[in-house]
Amino acid sequence: MRVGADSRRCLALCAAAFLFLLTSACDRDQTESRYRFTAMGTLVEITIFDFPSAAADAAAVQVESLFLDLQQRWDPWADGALGQVNEVVSSGGTGIPDDDLADLLSRASRISRDSGGAFDPAVGALVRLWGFYDAEAMPDRPPSPGAIQETLDRNLPLTRLWDEDARVLTGHEGTTIDLGAFAKGEAVDRAIALLEGLGVSDAIVNAGGDLRAIGRHGDRPWRIGVREPRDAGVLAAIEVTGDESVFTSGDYERYFEFEGRRYHHVLDPRTGYPTLGLSSVTVIGHDAASTDAASTALMVAGPQHWPTVASALDLRQVMVVENDGSIQMSRDMRPRVKLLRDKPPEVMIRDIP
Ligand code: AMP
Ligand code: MG
Repeated sequence: MRVGADSRRCLALCAAAFLFLLTSACDRDQTESRYRFTAMGTLVEITIFDFPSAAADAAAVQVESLFLDLQQRWDPWADGALGQVNEVVSSGGTGIPDDDLADLLSRASRISRDSGGAFDPAVGALVRLWGFYDAEAMPDRPPSPGAIQETLDRNLPLTRLWDEDARVLTGHEGTTIDLGAFAKGEAVDRAIALLEGLGVSDAIVNAGGDLRAIGRHGDRPWRIGVREPRDAGVLAAIEVTGDESVFTSGDYERYFEFEGRRYHHVLDPRTGYPTLGLSSVTVIGHDAASTDAASTALMVAGPQHWPTVASALDLRQVMVVENDGSIQMSRDMRPRVKLLRDKPPEVMIRDIP
């Protein structure tokens, strides 16, 4: 399908708002309800199709409360469930999370193991050192190499800290668990479950461009956009039906520049520095939580090795954009993606083993 000038302008507007639900902004329907709020450091948009509008609004308000509650519980640095565990663990005590957080840590730890440590929520101390923990304040220079090395030397991975049978976190001086690459996805999953419980069958929960969609947009699929990492235009459109999550990790979400180099918020747990090589990774998966973690893991895996890590995480549909703008996709991703650049780029197809 060709995209006309109007649609392109509309896509660009969607992109400017950092929300990539192409259908709703571009051809809004009377039977569509949209509701927006800010949570977990991002703009969240709930779109519900073909549902009585008062009930849709009431449902979206419940989703907002859910997000705000989870934000408080899973903030690594505040006084919620995770913050309290972090305080104990980082001063050497044994962390005993509540059941909900324990389940989350078990799942995160398994994904961490499967990704070979590329996704590792125990990067909290590094995130803190780099200054990427505060959405309001961005650092203006990297930490010293000595401080990075010292933090790395002290750090242990989540797979060694979390005892899945005993459901305790081993205390380890300075350790902080940061679920920032996973919790947003989990919140999206819970929001979808909440909506389904209220009888909604066609909806999107979109947290800053990362989303899970159920059902359809009336008689056609949901259509969502993936951001161009460097110019904030729309790189690609993807049609989604049924129940799928689309998550993108990128080096443009939280970053600063220092002496001509970009330093961003996805850290390589092996080096202690921001990942190199990829500007963004988009993954289509089933549940939002594991798709969220997967996109972060593949940023760490980088332009050569992402197919191997994708295989270990059981992913089939992946698109990555390299720092020079070139695009790689898995074979199963190619038919899902409509690229929207003026000059269609060449795409390198990679097989996921
Ligand atoms: P995402 O945008 O989903 O890729 O998540 C990035 C966020 O996850 C960062 O802001 C950090 O809080 C945290 N993070 C950074 N690097 C990693 C990593 N290698 N593994 C797990 N979490 C990370
Ligand atoms: Mg993620």
